[in-house]
Amino acid sequence: MLLSGWGRYPRAQGRPTRAADTDAARTALAAARSDGGMIARGLGRSYGDSALGGRVLETGALDRFRAFDPATGTVTCEAGVSIADLLRVFLPRGWFPPVTPGTKHVSIGGAIASDVHGKNHHGAGSFSDHVQAVEILLADGSVVVASRERHADLFAATCGGMGLTGVILAATLRLMPVASGMIRARTLKAENLDACLGLFETHADATYSVAWIDCLATGDALGRSLVMLGEHAGGGGVPRLARARLSLPFDLPGVLLNRMTMKAFNALYYRRVRTPDRTAIVPFEPYFYPLDGIGGWNRAYGSRGFLQYQFVLPKAAGRDALAAILLRIADSGRGSFLAVLKAFGPGNANPLSFPMEGYTLALDFPVRDDDFALLDRLDDMVVAHGGRLYLAKDARMSAATFRASYPRWETFQEVRARYGALGVFRSLQSDRLGL
Ligand SMILES: Cc1cc2nc3c(=O)[nH]c(=O)nc-3n(C[C@H](O)[C@H](O)[C@H](O)COP(=O)(O)OP(=O)(O)OC[C@H]3O[C@@H](n4cnc5c(N)ncnc54)[C@H](O)[C@@H]3O)c2cc1C
Repeated sequence: MLLSGWGRYPRAQGRPTRAADTDAARTALAAARSDGGMIARGLGRSYGDSALGGRVLETGALDRFRAFDPATGTVTCEAGVSIADLLRVFLPRGWFPPVTPGTKHVSIGGAIASDVHGKNHHGAGSFSDHVQAVEILLADGSVVVASRERHADLFAATCGGMGLTGVILAATLRLMPVASGMIRARTLKAENLDACLGLFETHADATYSVAWIDCLATGDALGRSLVMLGEHAGGGGVPRLARARLSLPFDLPGVLLNRMTMKAFNALYYRRVRTPDRTAIVPFEPYFYPLDGIGGWNRAYGSRGFLQYQFVLPKAAGRDALAAILLRIADSGRGSFLAVLKAFGPGNANPLSFPMEGYTLALDFPVRDDDFALLDRLDDMVVAHGGRLYLAKDARMSAATFRASYPRWETFQEVRARYGALGVFRSLQSDRLGL
């Protein structure tokens, strides 16, 4: 069967098996062990090839809640439970995921394996920082519970480990209390990159912050942006969870994606906010998950799919490194409709976790043959400044780029070797990166 990630690039043949319980997962694993290995797949929201491989174990049917402590907000659930499920069950009771990515359609297993971050990384860290324990199916068919106290090496390697240590069967994590499902959202206009980074600094105490950047603006307007801050609001109740209102049932023709249309879209998006500082109380869904409102929006980039390029630069690399990369993108004219900038707080101890203290920028590139060379050049710039690319978005970086930018990759491999995972848990991405 032809499978792909959210970017629809690459597409590859794979044999999916659905596991509804531990025994089914173990049976699939036994078959895969003697047949080239396998990789777990949650909701397929990673963009590239991290959940693709010869044999793919789908975890969506592992969707049961096991326990909840209303005194602390601690929940234990199976790995196929999604963030949308958590919201549906627990938001009406006053609990919210402590960290959420830009779509609610991700599984808890996928969120842990990618150690996802949200708009609050500077204050809350990444997803795994709120996970207390994970139950993992190891290569030999045994099941262990790993935490910061027990099998700490396995716990750290699994959080951010892209499914390469074992299959996450369940997890225990801590939700955070909220008074409602409403967000006090403030939008500030920044005329250029300096103003944008200045706003991040000034509002470092905001719970949530993110900037949308016009990645095609140049000159004095390089990095002009809308900086969006957010706080959980006190009242307003819990809005009902929305369904996608619109959907894109077919691929848009690639001809619509050119320098002119993107430039026009970016300029309009920037000008749509007329006041330099605007505050509104909005439901949490359009605030956190704007793209979930358009079903199948990943078809907007045409039939060849798209790459999402997300990198982080250490704070020490400074504003100039970010400006140089933005300029290179703007010069190429290849930029995307949406470029999103966030400030990260310090990273954690997990060897393959993406965040490090600094700035992260994510932007989309429709797949075109000549863009691969541009992205290779950008990789070189990112690595030269001590940064790295996000594995959950990656579909193309080289093994050399990976090794140069994830210096703890050998520790990761040692842990995998210790738990028998090498060659058993593998994906197209791990083969490409030499893991
Ligand atoms: C619109 C959109 C916005 C996004 N915004 C953000 C964002 O703001 N921040 C961010 O960090 N990410 C973001 N992402 C990326 C997304 O959060 C991650 O790719 C996440 O891992 C997807 O979860 P999934 O369940 O779909 O996993 P999949 O895509 O199915 O798998 C991703 C990885 O997790 C592994 N995995 C999945 N389940 C298991 C399991 N049970 N056991 C072991 N390994 C497993 C897979 O092997 C694979 O390596 C966004 C994605 C989209 C589409």
